[in-house]
Amino acid sequence: MKRHVSKHAVTIDTSKAKSNADVVRLCVKELGLVEFPLGRKELGCDIYWNEFCYNDNHATVGGRVNKFPGMEEVCSKMTLSRCLDIMRDLYPEDYDFYPCTWYLPAQYEDFCKEAEVKNAKKRKFKQTYIVKPYGGSSGEGIFLLKEPKNYISSYPSKRGTCHVAQEYVSNVYLIDDFKFDFRIYVVLKSLEPLEFHICKEGLARFSTVPYKRPTKKNIHESFMHLTNYSLNKRSKDFCHSEEEDEGSKRTLSSVMRRIDMDGKDSREVWENIELVVCKTIMAIVPEVKVAVHKTIITPGKTGPSFFQILGFDILLMDDLKPILLEVNSSPSLSMDSEEEVSPGVTKYVRSPKDEEVKFPLVRDTILLVLSPNKRKHCEKKRRKRLMHLKKLMSCNESVLSRTSSDVTTCVQMYEDGGEENVEDEEDEEVNQQMSELHLHMDLDCATNEMEEEKFETVPPDSDHKLQTQEGDLHNPDGDHEEALLEESCLKQLYPDPYQEECDQFHILGRVAKLYMNSLGVRKSAGMSSSSFRTFIRKCEFGKKGLTSASVDIMYLDLQRRWDNMNPDLSGLTLSFQAFLDACFEISKICFPAATKLEMLENFVGHCESHLCLRENED
Ligand code: ADP
Repeated sequence: MKRHVSKHAVTIDTSKAKSNADVVRLCVKELGLVEFPLGRKELGCDIYWNEFCYNDNHATVGGRVNKFPGMEEVCSKMTLSRCLDIMRDLYPEDYDFYPCTWYLPAQYEDFCKEAEVKNAKKRKFKQTYIVKPYGGSSGEGIFLLKEPKNYISSYPSKRGTCHVAQEYVSNVYLIDDFKFDFRIYVVLKSLEPLEFHICKEGLARFSTVPYKRPTKKNIHESFMHLTNYSLNKRSKDFCHSEEEDEGSKRTLSSVMRRIDMDGKDSREVWENIELVVCKTIMAIVPEVKVAVHKTIITPGKTGPSFFQILGFDILLMDDLKPILLEVNSSPSLSMDSEEEVSPGVTKYVRSPKDEEVKFPLVRDTILLVLSPNKRKHCEKKRRKRLMHLKKLMSCNESVLSRTSSDVTTCVQMYEDGGEENVEDEEDEEVNQQMSELHLHMDLDCATNEMEEEKFETVPPDSDHKLQTQEGDLHNPDGDHEEALLEESCLKQLYPDPYQEECDQFHILGRVAKLYMNSLGVRKSAGMSSSSFRTFIRKCEFGKKGLTSASVDIMYLDLQRRWDNMNPDLSGLTLSFQAFLDACFEISKICFPAATKLEMLENFVGHCESHLCLRENED
């Protein structure tokens, strides 16, 4: 059956939203979106919401997709570490917020050597290491090591798995003796022009066994050392509490208040977290640009544009310095938590803390990425809905005692859509729902679409109250309605206010441009040997002493090194990461200077002028 959709309506495809569907559906109701739970093939939608990755949407021709192509890989433990390592090499003082990391088994020798050198300098506490499977998540397969060489003895059982080994941050800030980390949400709105926002509210996840610095005795206690919710929820000590500042999962703001109560300055902590986010985004954006560039869009069709909610896991050291642990490309947007209702029996129940954070996050993200006209349309619907809700609340105070999602559900209008003469039926249904709302306060409503006019439909038994507020109804854009909309939970970080701080880190963006410019016709495959040779020739590196033979050897070497480093991504071409290595090697030969950054800057400037690419274009 074809649905009738007004041309102003904002449409959303939730056919691949899966575990995100609940929270997205709340937003559908709140913003009056038109939801297509089974997808919309011919006409497409304004927004496509996927649970995991862009691949699910390769046929999309327009609209905005909530995942960037390739972001999953960019945020993987290895690629993220690699991006941050390179930035640390270039800007050692700025990129000191990520623990030193090695890729195993490929860098096992380096791991042992470097660890030995570092440990020799340490007097009191010897460094512990945390080893994580390359493709793992939710704390799975993670273990702690006191000695790097012990990796080999534990490795045979894990043969075939690649790991990252990382310096374990043992001097962490504790609350009531428990270790915790923050889940900070960041919205990457667009790459060109670059714009990203941070969510002002987030979550704090606590471990469930009081923390002690790692010793041989406690090194295996994952409920002490790991803060993952998915892991700790299995602990008998996991505490579900509805109180903001209690329990094993809390809101970020409640922890910040606690930090203030401890006599520290939470504002400074937050500013430092914002800087970590900015620097991390600057490190990964070049990779994401390359991935988007390589994505095959059906020839002759406009591709979609992308946005994404990212989840940053951040730990605080005992001096409150934030340390980035990882970036999640698909942070959980589930609003449920698993609770044991009787011994051995668990049940999913709505988690008010998750809802308090995730619903505004998704709602404001949707508003953020819409065109100004569509956003206005949604805001108008939202205001009307909230006005209506306010009136209903004044009709029956008992609504106030219900959770926001119950209330959201209660006031929804229902439209099946598409069938002729459906209006009368809908009005009847709206009336019936409203009556039930007042009689029973127990509606279960399946709304996909709201029409403005239908908000004029008033429950019969609330007539007298509504009439006393007639002015409100006929003044839909009045000031008091404006005041109903709380301000967005998202705060822009780039371009304003951090453009100046961030733009100094643009060098990798310029290298990414060289790479994209030099990819052959089959850009999705990566850089072939002939494209690499053409790049070298066009930049006239022959004149700077690079022979054709040395260029070919360099190409083969890098390809082999990267195959070895990450067999999952092996191919016959150069990835962007491998190309970056080539750039470092060539810049060392052709533009020797005191620092890596200086060499790379001279190299990039030289290439840009030979390839006629303007500097700092992005
Ligand atoms: P996963 O993707 O499997 O969740 P993480 O990198 O997030 O892996 O690590 C899981 C948990 O381990 C984190 O939530 C944190 O509590 C702890 N952790 C991870 N890395 C470190 C580290 N370098 N120092 C201290 N604790 C860490």
